[in-house]
Amino acid sequence: MARPGKLASKWKNRPFFEKSLVRNIARSTKQEARRIRGRVLLELRDGVPQEEIRERLKRVFGIAYFAFAYKIPLNPPLLKGEKGGLESLKEEILNKVEGMTFPSFGVITRRSNKNFPHTSQEVNEIVGRVVQERTKAKVDLDHPHLPIHIEILEKEALFYFEKISGPGGLPVGVSGKVACLLSGGIDSPVSAYQMLKRGCEILFIHFHSAPFTSTASQEKVKEVVEILTPYQFTSHVYFIPFAELQQEITTQTPAPYRVILYRRFMVRIAEVLARQEGALALVTGDAIGQVASQTLPNLSTIQSAANLPILRPLIGMDKQEIIRLAQKIGTYETSIQPHEDCCSYLMPREPVTHSTPKELLRIEEAMDVKGWVSKILSQVSSQVFHFPTS
Ligand code: ATP
Ligand code: MG
Repeated sequence: MARPGKLASKWKNRPFFEKSLVRNIARSTKQEARRIRGRVLLELRDGVPQEEIRERLKRVFGIAYFAFAYKIPLNPPLLKGEKGGLESLKEEILNKVEGMTFPSFGVITRRSNKNFPHTSQEVNEIVGRVVQERTKAKVDLDHPHLPIHIEILEKEALFYFEKISGPGGLPVGVSGKVACLLSGGIDSPVSAYQMLKRGCEILFIHFHSAPFTSTASQEKVKEVVEILTPYQFTSHVYFIPFAELQQEITTQTPAPYRVILYRRFMVRIAEVLARQEGALALVTGDAIGQVASQTLPNLSTIQSAANLPILRPLIGMDKQEIIRLAQKIGTYETSIQPHEDCCSYLMPREPVTHSTPKELLRIEEAMDVKGWVSKILSQVSSQVFHFPTS
């Protein structure tokens, strides 16, 4: 059983949100999922490894928490009599707790089916009494060693012992699509993760300098995309050969402006691909002042080359915070592998920190900007990644 986050339920568009969540849970786990009373239920077939399901649900954004629950049917004839659903619920709970040792326990019942003949408090007391008789454990409602959660739904009751935190956020897909500029570095995978977390589907775009550099950056990007794909199930990656244009920039323009020029071309090219794929924004891993190309004036000069907004989810973060997140997501180890960055190998010694759009437009007059953009776009290759793979 998975519960969506509270924030989510405040959306006007709640059914859309919940349907997306059900679809994503089903895609991730390859199990049938259904929506009932603000919850998502997955019927796990026998033999499905719980550890695997747990790992996968930890990556489905929109889940506040989930639990491996046991199900007791509450069929209509059982609802009326004194015996019935509640009897089997008691029995099953006793069966499960029998082998466990716990000094204290607490029964926490939630009843979303108001026709059930007992209130939540009554269920707590009825179940609590038999568990105490059988196990002699103490009742502790504040900090029980063994919480016994019971949910009375329409046609079934669920019970479970452990609430597992989900990743929070919004279901991927509900917020629309963005195009993320993914380098081989630490920051951009984290920026992609932040966007996935807020429900965005991501199209990845990587610029490489092969054959002037090795293909290491492309290999790293593929590894990073493999780590991020379990969050969105299918990832498209565009690989864009950038070396020839970089050579041109190196010979035609003043060195201090190089990196800004690279970035402006990157966003122009990315924007065309983004629009083709229906993406509404570009995403980068910039943080103000982290390096010379990321001063506020330079970020603004780069933005002015694009018409789509450039979103920068790491803008206010320190490097250490970004690194911690990269470690948590699992992209850090890949990101720190050495590679020749498509920009660092031609890095000027004194990059400009206070560029203006006007200056850049003047410098770009020496180049056939449109021609380069379409030339490079004609050389793009792409690859698709899937999760689960089978
Ligand atoms: P990262 O760790 O993400 O590479 P960085 O601190 O090295 O970031 P820069 O190299 O200045 O920063 O890049 C800033 C942003 O520009 C990156 O986060 C990324 O979104 C984009 N970018 C840089 N190089 C590339 C590239 N080769 N391909 C795609 N995007 C890139
Ligand atoms: Mg970089």
